[in-house]
Amino acid sequence: MKAVFLNGHGGNEVVQVGERPMPQRKQGEVLVRMRAATLNRVDLYMRDSGAGIRHQLPLIMGVDGAGVIEEVDAQEQLLKPGQRVVLYSGVTCGRCEFCQHGEPVLCTSMQTLGEHCDGTLAEYIWCRQAMCFRFPKG
Ligand SMILES: [Zn+2]
Repeated sequence: MKAVFLNGHGGNEVVQVGERPMPQRKQGEVLVRMRAATLNRVDLYMRDSGAGIRHQLPLIMGVDGAGVIEEVDAQEQLLKPGQRVVLYSGVTCGRCEFCQHGEPVLCTSMQTLGEHCDGTLAEYIWCRQAMCFRFPKG
């Protein structure tokens, strides 16, 4: 798939547009075909240095985005293929005390798309089901 990714840190010379492996969806995850993404200040930070953020290169850029669900677990009730969704960029663990008590925004292992793991500036991305919100009709 095509993606915008970092192959180092520095100026725009480390930003590449090219092919990256197609993400493989696991149970409990949603494969989203991206339709829109933005350039976030975080993308520039990660391009510049990414200091203090545990990550690996190459890294697909992009924190924010929206798209259409391609694949989801068959038993999933709220999300269906073809549904338009807006993505929440926080990748939570689902296991810590805060996640277990319905407060994932306080997750002790919170990661962010485009920082700790591949982001939204790609044709496809995998997300946990909890990261997908129905796209408002308006
Ligand atoms: Zn957690």
